[in-house]
Amino acid sequence: MVQKYGGTSVGDADRIRAVAEHVARTRRDGHEVVVVVSAMGKTTDDLIRLAGEVSSTPSPREYDMLVSAGERVTAPLLCMALADFGVSAASFTGSQAGIITTTEHSRAKIIEVKGDRIREALAQGKVPVVAGFQGVSTDRDVTTLGRGGSDTTAVALAAALGASICEIYTDVTGVFSADPRIVPTARRLPKVSFDEMLEIAATGGRVLMLRSVEFARRHRVTLHVRSSFTWEPGTIVTEEDSTMEQAVVTAVTHDATEAKVTVSGVPDRPGVAARLFRALADRAINVDMIVQNISSHGTTDISFTLPKLDLATAVEVCNGLQDELGASGVTSDDGIARVSLIGAGMKTHPGVTATMFETLGADGINIEMISTSTIRISCVVRAEDVERAVRSLHSAFELE
Ligand code: ADP
Ligand code: ASP
Ligand code: MG
Repeated sequence: MVQKYGGTSVGDADRIRAVAEHVARTRRDGHEVVVVVSAMGKTTDDLIRLAGEVSSTPSPREYDMLVSAGERVTAPLLCMALADFGVSAASFTGSQAGIITTTEHSRAKIIEVKGDRIREALAQGKVPVVAGFQGVSTDRDVTTLGRGGSDTTAVALAAALGASICEIYTDVTGVFSADPRIVPTARRLPKVSFDEMLEIAATGGRVLMLRSVEFARRHRVTLHVRSSFTWEPGTIVTEEDSTMEQAVVTAVTHDATEAKVTVSGVPDRPGVAARLFRALADRAINVDMIVQNISSHGTTDISFTLPKLDLATAVEVCNGLQDELGASGVTSDDGIARVSLIGAGMKTHPGVTATMFETLGADGINIEMISTSTIRISCVVRAEDVERAVRSLHSAFELE
């Protein structure tokens, strides 16, 4: 099995020893185990802040060299602690573990997991401890996989090694019906399908990184999200089966990491949207929601949401295209947040959307954008309203 320990789980020396003890116990139970670790506590945030203090435009290559360092500290520390529990272990960087990625720094994608040295260590009876969040690019530079990327390292290794399960140890006891820090009455979900987990991760439930869930679904790796503080069974994320309750609404999520851009007064003719979104894609900007209104007098407004981190680039792209598109203006707004309802049962239950809008309306919360999939409804609202929206919806759909 693969076990991944997040930042809080390895936050200090005591925590690292507690994790070592659990790994030792897992071994005694007869399991072969590969461990993936995150940086200790807030180390990654601290490194990112340092980079910003030294330079306003740090080189992407050096940035990844720097921020990947946090995980490289945890891995050898855990190996030392394991030795004290009588377990022979060896630490590996992402590069040593053979995690080959694309070249886009700070958001690299895994192309291949070679894992030879991991297999060798296992064959020698050792516990390999891999530094998460990082790999080596096809240009031989160290890359990182995006925030929360250790989840993806763990799932990719589990897939490559044919592990029977990938355990994700974190600071909550599983995946909940809403972020338990915002909704204290949120309920732990014993089982979640990949499809629902994808939507939860994509809409702000940061307990699992979205790419790790995509990877798990593609390679059919069962995930077990659980607590490294209580060690109790948590949430199984796996393929949908008949034993799963098809709740109409399973979870309410929120995400305040996106901003909105509006290009107004664009001529309503073929090719305009294509030109705009191709230009954004060429700058590697991941656009999320898109709304285009019916045109009046031959022009229309196009609004879209995107990660706040990409806002400056997106505005530059849109301004650059304004004359070519014949648009009348470009505006941006970083005071938005998105609240979403996720549920596989939504497909067959009309009325969920209406109840959602009624709940928000009764709370005086204005809806600025709406988007839906078969198992999700999302509304963009003011950022300051979003936590209130999550709590109201959680209780309106009786998810306690
Ligand atoms: P780690 O460092 O272990 O990777 P993260 O901080 O990335 O931990 O993810 C765990 C956090 O995700 C929890 O502390 C919780 O506040 C947050 N979270 C958001 N939505 C959910 C949810 N639906 N269920 C569980 N946790 C959630
Ligand atoms: N340490 C990295 C981060 O904070 C990766 C991770 O924790 O998964 O984003
Ligand atoms: Mg995480």
